[in-house]
Amino acid sequence: MELWQQMVRDSVHSVDQLVEKFGIDRTVAEGLDEFFQARINPYYLSLIREPGDPIWRQCVPDKAELDDMDGFEDPLQEDRMSPVPNITHRYPDRALFLTTSQCGMYCRFCTRKRKVGNSDKISMKELESAFKYLEKHTEIRDVIMSGGDPLMLTDVMLEKILKRLRSIPHIEIIRIGSKMPCVLPQRITQKLVDMIKKYHPVYVNTHFNHPWEITPESTKACEMLANAGIPVSNQAVLMKGVNDNAEVMRELFTKLLKIRVRPYYLYMADETRGANHFRTSLDKGLEIMQKLRGHTSGLAIPHFVIDAPGGGGKIPILPQYVLHRDEDRVVMKNYKGEIFVYREAHNGEAKPEINVPIEIVEKKNGNGSNGNGSNGNGSNGNGSNGSSKKPKNYKEKVEVTEVATSNN
Ligand code: SF4
Repeated sequence: MELWQQMVRDSVHSVDQLVEKFGIDRTVAEGLDEFFQARINPYYLSLIREPGDPIWRQCVPDKAELDDMDGFEDPLQEDRMSPVPNITHRYPDRALFLTTSQCGMYCRFCTRKRKVGNSDKISMKELESAFKYLEKHTEIRDVIMSGGDPLMLTDVMLEKILKRLRSIPHIEIIRIGSKMPCVLPQRITQKLVDMIKKYHPVYVNTHFNHPWEITPESTKACEMLANAGIPVSNQAVLMKGVNDNAEVMRELFTKLLKIRVRPYYLYMADETRGANHFRTSLDKGLEIMQKLRGHTSGLAIPHFVIDAPGGGGKIPILPQYVLHRDEDRVVMKNYKGEIFVYREAHNGEAKPEINVPIEIVEKKNGNGSNGNGSNGNGSNGNGSNGSSKKPKNYKEKVEVTEVATSNN
């Protein structure tokens, strides 16, 4: 047995352990065990610094889960978009392929609790119909292996799946969605990466949520993947009491870059049954994104998205940078809250004669104009030629009524 397998075996998982280790009331622990079992391996357990900290909240069952039975079991409607067992086909050229129900840790916020945990939730026998579907649908060029966690499979089983996928000519890209580099980095062995790299191009999407998860062990795991030519990107989830803070996020994303992991997505938490206590307001996410953009390198800034309930897919959300737009100009603010104007091109040419007076009539914080009430610092500046022929719908003045700025 490999070290990582032994560590999975040594995980905290029983009701007795929940009572003894975390002081959870026995009746509550039994309810939690029935709802979504615990699995906290010794490595991830060792990252907890104190009760209730960001690591604890992600892995230790909480009574709040049982108080929230109104949420959705399948918020992303993955099952409705599943033409055969273990495949979700939501986007035209991509398919999600669930290969196991097991994970190196059971995250309390998991969206896929209905599929994860008991080994009978995903049957290996059913993989054949999934392969057949992938073979038949020639429009699918990108397969995302997920679960559960595909790196819970043995090297032998994983290689069988990779080999079969690689035998399908139209599949160009294979992605492995795995939290193992974060929650059980001992799983990333030289033997594993040497096997995976035979099936390139293979990408790994991993899932770090807090800077404390970046340790010498997880650093080594991510570097081994990168050294094998496997690009690694990260999908984080915004969660109350875990990472709902701009400084924490900035530290997480910049540290990920240092271990050669590209921050890719930051998700709003899904409306999942038993996990609503993790959800924050959208404003919190926007505030964090606003405090990142311009303040740190673009490589460290993920796409902020909501995975739309009902199966709408990922929808990008941006702080409000465009304050006004008409056929001649776009009025924007930058990361410092300064106002700039970009002139639209007409027949391939911007109209240099058009001056754009900007008047800021109201600010959310009630301070009035921020001092650049005409053209702002970066606009086209020379306001003397307003007598030029004006285009249709030209507005003499742009009133910007919502400028949530100067708070960066
Ligand atoms: S590793 Fe992924 S699938 Fe498994 S419990 Fe955590 S979030 Fe859910």
